Amino acid sequence: MSASIVENPDTLAAAPADPKKPLRDGAFGNATALACRECGHEVELGPFYACPECFGPLEVAYDFPAVTREQIAAGPANIWRYKALLPVPDDIEQSPNMEPGFTRLLEARNLAATLGLEKLWVKDDSTNPTNSFKDRVVACALSAARELDAKVFACPSTGNLANAVAAAGARAGIKTVVFIPSNLEKPKQINSAVYTDSLVAVEGNYDDVNKLASEIAGEEDGWAFVNVNVRPFYAEGSKTLGYEIAEQLGWRLPDQVVIPVASGSQLTKVDKAFQELVKLGLVEDKPYKIFGAQATGCSPVSAAFKDGKKVVRPVKPDTIAKSLAIGNPADGPYVLDVCRRTGGVVEDISDDEVREAIVLLARTEGIFTETAGGTTVGVLKKLVETGQLDPTAETVVINTGHGLKTLDAVADQVGPVATIAPSYAAFAATGIA
Ligand SMILES: *Cc1c(COP(=O)(O)O)cnc(C)c1O
Ligand SMILES: [Zn+2]
Repeated sequence: MSASIVENPDTLAAAPADPKKPLRDGAFGNATALACRECGHEVELGPFYACPECFGPLEVAYDFPAVTREQIAAGPANIWRYKALLPVPDDIEQSPNMEPGFTRLLEARNLAATLGLEKLWVKDDSTNPTNSFKDRVVACALSAARELDAKVFACPSTGNLANAVAAAGARAGIKTVVFIPSNLEKPKQINSAVYTDSLVAVEGNYDDVNKLASEIAGEEDGWAFVNVNVRPFYAEGSKTLGYEIAEQLGWRLPDQVVIPVASGSQLTKVDKAFQELVKLGLVEDKPYKIFGAQATGCSPVSAAFKDGKKVVRPVKPDTIAKSLAIGNPADGPYVLDVCRRTGGVVEDISDDEVREAIVLLARTEGIFTETAGGTTVGVLKKLVETGQLDPTAETVVINTGHGLKTLDAVADQVGPVATIAPSYAAFAATGIA
């Protein structure tokens, strides 16, 4: 049994709402049940996240109607264009939400040339409303929280999730409480606190914060913890990254995708999205490889991959890539499954390589990424250099966050090349012209 998220069985079904209040019709769209990823046991749609039979993680199951490319293209330029494939009601666009998604897919010719790749795109999720991919998952969690009549919208976070939850809750007019490790980068703290008066800094690492959140979810009624008791709904939001990549490539799948791994949810959901598109006949079936990226200072999934293990041994994180610093990743075993099944790998790089890759992406493509994106681009570079990725195959690398949130990471790397008096002579003396 590989599910690592359940520490306390009492929190299997922490209820955000009055349990007697019935859900409205179509509250979760075409979703039919929550199904256990380990044993297949199904439970009703609700604030449940672990299987009552085996404690395995629950995942949203659907009965999809026929969906056409035209229907999707006629939708809004955000994730709700895929609402038929998400656990959200048909009138989702009527309620205030952050409307994330449909971010740019940029062909990265300069970076490709530098790395020796033939065709490379950057899926740039730093342009979402709170500048990370987390707005996607939070938008879906907010819909679930609303349908379940939650009173408080909450999360334990490595930073970006707290930003997204606090902002979405503010716009939706629902109380937010967000928990972060107290050593988090200052910009990420401010980027949450500006939206909420209930940012709680916890003395401990993310895994300690997560444990505390599970405890609170078990004690308090009416709390929707986006990545704890409504995690199955939250996780589905990451599928939209996969849908968008396929649609923006002209309704086809790429050959290779490089994705950062924190809890591992995003990586597994991009794979799920590709498979759904094939099943729905929206793209042609073809082989693709999925690669996972971690920073060496928190690389439990990469270590398990390299050791040929099926389970992930938890670590204590020590890396500048704080948004990826989950030492006990809930979806780690499933990341191993996806990468092995598709022929990809999980790889890791040092903090210095993360810093170099941030500057590389900025100077080749004009995209300023945070440490998570530095990790992903740096791992892409390493995969090419070590021959683990095919340089002739079409590749997509996902940039999940914005560099302005982790300025300190490169503060010693870049800066003025000269400080001069305001005179032509002084400028000429620099030799820049
Ligand atoms: C949360 C996060 C990830 C990874 O998310 P998981 O789904 O937990 O693996 C990647 N990049 C950034 C910037 C994040 O904030
Ligand atoms: Zn089960």
